[in-house]
Order: sequence, then C-alpha cells, then structure tokens
Amino acid sequence: MAELSEVLKQATGVLAARGEGVHLIDEEGRRYLDFTAGIGVTSTGHCHPRVVAAAQRQVATLIHGQYTTVMHRPLLDLVDRLGDVLPAGLDRLFFANSGSESVEAALRLVRQATGRPNVVAFHGGFHGRTVAAASLTTSGTKVRSGFSPLMGGVVIAPFPNAARYGWTAEQATEFALQELDYVLQTVSAPADTAAFLIEPVLGEGGYVPATPDFLAGLRERADRHGILLVLDEVQTGWGRTGRFWGHDHFGVRPDVLITAKGLASGFPLSAIAAPAALMQQAWPGSQGGTYGANAVACAAALATVDVITEEGLVANAAARGAELRGALEEVATRHEQIADVRGLGLMLGTEFRTPDGAPDGAAAAAAQQEAARRGLLLLTCGPWGEVVRFIPALVVTADQITEGAAIWSDAVAAAAGSRREPMPM
Ligand code: PMP
Repeated sequence: MAELSEVLKQATGVLAARGEGVHLIDEEGRRYLDFTAGIGVTSTGHCHPRVVAAAQRQVATLIHGQYTTVMHRPLLDLVDRLGDVLPAGLDRLFFANSGSESVEAALRLVRQATGRPNVVAFHGGFHGRTVAAASLTTSGTKVRSGFSPLMGGVVIAPFPNAARYGWTAEQATEFALQELDYVLQTVSAPADTAAFLIEPVLGEGGYVPATPDFLAGLRERADRHGILLVLDEVQTGWGRTGRFWGHDHFGVRPDVLITAKGLASGFPLSAIAAPAALMQQAWPGSQGGTYGANAVACAAALATVDVITEEGLVANAAARGAELRGALEEVATRHEQIADVRGLGLMLGTEFRTPDGAPDGAAAAAAQQEAARRGLLLLTCGPWGEVVRFIPALVVTADQITEGAAIWSDAVAAAAGSRREPMPM
C-alpha cells in the first residue's frame, strides 16, 4: 500500500467527498462552509451547474487537442470571449496549466522581449514553486530553503507594506519608491532590468494591498526606463477583490497580466495576456507544453466567464466582501490578539499578534482549527502563518456571510489563549 507524502499537510483534516456552491461535504455527510474555495480557485462555487454542463459536454467531445499540433474550438471561443474582460490592449494570450507556469511564461517573455536579464520582484510576494517562480517568491523561506541555488537575475525590493511597519499608506509608499530608486541605482540598472513583477495585493505573503501611488510610481518608472510592468493576478483576478481585476482598484495599466485560479473554476488552466507587439517577441517553440489550454479546461473557463459576468459575481464579491469585512472588524474589537483586518472584496485577512506585537501564527492556527471544528473552513497565510484569510466563492450569499462570521466569532473566543502549530508559507 502506498501512502501520501508527509510534505502534503492538510490544513483542515477534512476528507472532501462533494462540493456544492459554498459548501464542501465530507465522506460522513458533514457539511462545511468553505471559505477557502480551493485557495481562491472555485469562485463560481463548487460544481456550478453551468460549468459542470460545459465540461461534461466537452469531455464527451474532445478531451485533449494539443495546441501546438491542432487548434480546438473551446480554445478559440475562450480567446474570443476573454477579449471582453481583459484590460484594453492586452489582446494576445498564451495558456498554461498553473499559476507557476504562467509566471515562468511571463518571465521568459519579458527577458526575450527586452534582452535584459533582471527582474525586480517585491518583498512578501508569492509567485509559485517552480525554480523561476520560487526565485521571485519571498513570502516565506519554506518555498526557497533547500532548493538553492535559485535562478539568478532576481532582485527583491520593498513592497509598500504599511501593515507590517504600522505606517500610513503614504509613508509605506514613499519608503518603497525611494528604495526602488536606490535598487535601480545600486543593484540593477534600468538597462539591465526587464520587468517589475508584482501582485496588486500580496496573497500568500499576508493579504496586503499595494497602494495606488506605489503602482503609479512603478508605471512611471517602467515607462521612463523601458521596463515592463508585470502584474501577477493569479489570486486577485476574476472578481475576487470586488473588481474584475485587482489592478482595477489602482488605476494602473500592466504590460503583462498573469492569471490562473478563478479562470476555470477548478480545472487546471492559466494564462498570460500582453499586447501583440510584445507577445510577438517570444519566439515560436520557446513557450508551450503538452497540456496547456486543455479543451475541457477551456470549455469550463468559457462557462466561468459567462457565470461571473451574467450572474453579477463581481458586484456580489464587493457587497458580500463589505459585509464580511464589517463582521471581521467587529470580532477584532473584542479580541486584542487580532491586530488588523485588511484586504479587498472577498480577499480578506485578519492578522494575529502576541501582546508584545509579534506575528502570532500559533494563535491564528488555533482559531482556524476551532473554526473547522465548527464547520467553517479557513486558510492562513503570511510569513509566520499569522493571517487567517477569508476567500469564499463569489456566489456566497448574505446569509452565508452571517453564518460564517458567527462561527468565526465563536471560534476566536474558544481559541483565545490556545496555540497550535502554524503552517507558514
Ligand atoms: N502567483 C500567485 C499570486 C499565487 O497566489 C499563486 C498560488 N497561490 C501562484 C502564483 C502559483 O500558482 P500555482 O500554485 O497554480 O502554481
């Protein structure tokens, strides 16, 4: 008999048998309110009927049509449809299977297009676990340790992390832009810098939104120096933040957009989007893979876009997010160990700290486990696992928000003073 690797620790211990909308049901038939959504993937809810129907139709028609060998209709239809939701001008697409792979594809593209070696990424960012993606990742040493030497040509600059330093947004922005200029002057000259690569909201690094002025500052420097601005919207795309793209909150225009997760409601599919003039600079054969743009995943993605737009899920994320945020803030007023509630839309986090102000992953894990015992599934994030995050499917109702918030309130009260082993990133 084989066994699962110890590397795969399950945060909740639930054996999921079925998914229905915002619920997971285990093998004993116990229902859980799932505020993890497969790490922000199943935005249309588990097994949305329209996604299921589209996938079922496609699986009986053509499962795999390798896209450097033949073209298939679900891919062509998806590309056509994505034109409606992508930022203006980013009308050339390349598809892969995971967030990490599309990060790699973006990296390959910006190096090929500029002929420059370096990429500036930002402290606390998470971009995946393949070598290049891990090299860009600084949300926690677990992704990097024991895996060196990582890829060269990566420079890490500060993120405007006001929450971390207890600063105002203005202070954090000014500091991060000054340090970026210092990096361009001392570590990676503009002529050596292919791209800035950043998440509009730090995800695994602790649910910290960037600031509009910081992203505007990146855009301005990118334009001035011929550096490309790459936004990793793997976690922030598809309505998760209450706008279609995370960057819609900040009014910044990316040169390359990386997306995955919410794109196909749980089928493995990721993409990068860029203007034609840029995408044409990747030479044929340099990008690709056996499974990219799988026909069933594309059909599911097409249904996903329809569900998100036609069922008003972006507006629902904004409205339900505001309700959830209010409830989380109310709980925080009653518990001193919750130092911060932050995020955008339905991408919300609550940060735990010890009485002397240190990040407290053990307290966060204790609250997370009490919530799971009461039927609410949550994940943590942050370098110490100190942030409990709330990322329900975008179909979540007001009643389900109320129910989840009540469980959270009880869980935090029950966990007060207890500690569990955290799962830091
Ligand atoms: N970028 C971001 C912003 C992510 O949140 C993630 C996954 N959490 C990735 C990249 C990597 O995606 P994947 O796990 O699909 O490789």
